Amino acid sequence: MKHTEFKKELHKFISSRNIGQLCTKCKFSEKNKIASRMCDCTWRFGPGLKSIYQFFKATYNLKAILACNYRYISYDNIFSCVFDYNTDCNNENFIWAQNLYIFIFPMEDIAIVCNRHLTKNIPLFDNIVNNTLEHKKMFNFKYYNYDLAVWLTGPHIYIFDEESPLEMVCFKDRSYEQSDVSDVMISNHRWYKKTFIQEVREALKHVTW
Ligand SMILES: [Zn+2]
Repeated sequence: MKHTEFKKELHKFISSRNIGQLCTKCKFSEKNKIASRMCDCTWRFGPGLKSIYQFFKATYNLKAILACNYRYISYDNIFSCVFDYNTDCNNENFIWAQNLYIFIFPMEDIAIVCNRHLTKNIPLFDNIVNNTLEHKKMFNFKYYNYDLAVWLTGPHIYIFDEESPLEMVCFKDRSYEQSDVSDVMISNHRWYKKTFIQEVREALKHVTW
């Protein structure tokens, strides 16, 4: 599914409310546009995060979602597998913050979640975030967070072409004549020990397909 099509479908899905399953009180307030306290009606404000995750998973046959963990600072074991094919998402709040970027690789059935620090260290991702043309292909969405009882903005989503392999992603190289002060401070004279694809494999090691 192309990204434009997915964006459209996702927005349609997010805005769907399960009016049929609302209790009489909620149905009444919905009909009369009265703000009522939230009760346990399902999908009072549209799908919850669990359902949104299922939507992504079903659309792209996602086998795993990898997210950068705090150890990326050590430039080793950059990713953890947050959801895989066999486990349900019980920590769904984790990857849906608006300052995160989700890169979907349809060919590999994998999604990778990065924060801004990590995208800066991956030239391909950094280009997508900063290049106006590519950035246009990124989108996010508003959703209702039932745990917190508030509307929130979701992460930035980018979907690669069907043919894009993970191998095309590389960490930033440090040149021998690196003189950029900020770069040296970030790296503290250390650099990535493994390649991007090795880090992905490492994170997937415990996943049984
Ligand atoms: Zn209700």
